[in-house]
Amino acid sequence: MEKKTIPDNKISNDKGAAGCKSCGECCRGGAPTLLKQDAELFKSGVLKQSDVYTIRENEPVISKKDNSIYESIELIRIKEKPGTSECMFYDSEKGCAIYDNRPVQCVQYECWDQSGVLHEGLESSRLTRDDLFAESDEIIEIIRHHEDRCSYKNIKDAVYMLGVGEEAAVDELINILQYDTYSRPYIEENFSINPDMLELILGRPLIKTIETFGIQASQDGDNYMLSRIEEEPKQ
Ligand code: SF4
Ligand code: SF4
Repeated sequence: MEKKTIPDNKISNDKGAAGCKSCGECCRGGAPTLLKQDAELFKSGVLKQSDVYTIRENEPVISKKDNSIYESIELIRIKEKPGTSECMFYDSEKGCAIYDNRPVQCVQYECWDQSGVLHEGLESSRLTRDDLFAESDEIIEIIRHHEDRCSYKNIKDAVYMLGVGEEAAVDELINILQYDTYSRPYIEENFSINPDMLELILGRPLIKTIETFGIQASQDGDNYMLSRIEEEPKQ
């Protein structure tokens, strides 16, 4: 997935022709998923909780390898710059802004050796919201309530029912979208949470991610409209 290094020729490595050329392509192609060891980066202040977001359990994710869609396990990832796949810490002139303390995946990534070492054991080595908020029963409770109501499994089930003509599925999908949308400002105001942390606590807004199910949602006040995304005809 991701990695890194800086375009700084003063940084050498002894891997010869197979070593990192500090081209930055991996930093521009995606930000790293965090592992349990990376929890230290929050304690030391290298990372803030507003620098990361959660990919939730069963969330459809588009593979960078072949554009296929797969269901993820819960992962915490550094944010990308808006509208790009470039890691928020990457600077085209200076390289990685946190290079000396970059996440484990960035340290280990070697684009010339895609043997899968980064992905082995990810299920047990990944950082999760339970790890980050282990000392905050309040936030864990918020996450549980949100998952109960807005899990990607619930959405997938509703989309399936919609596909077989079950009209009640429209209401179910809208109820899920409303819960996700309104719980964000509610939590921000009632628990004094930085709004930039909401994508870590609740994942990305469903009104955006529902598009991976082939459905577009739009909001007009308290009303929601759902429409199917038409596939481009194949040439
Ligand atoms: S944290 Fe640094 S090394 Fe890792 S992807 Fe971002 S810019 Fe690159
Ligand atoms: S790991 Fe590969 S893609 Fe990333 S900076 Fe080094 S040479 Fe470039």
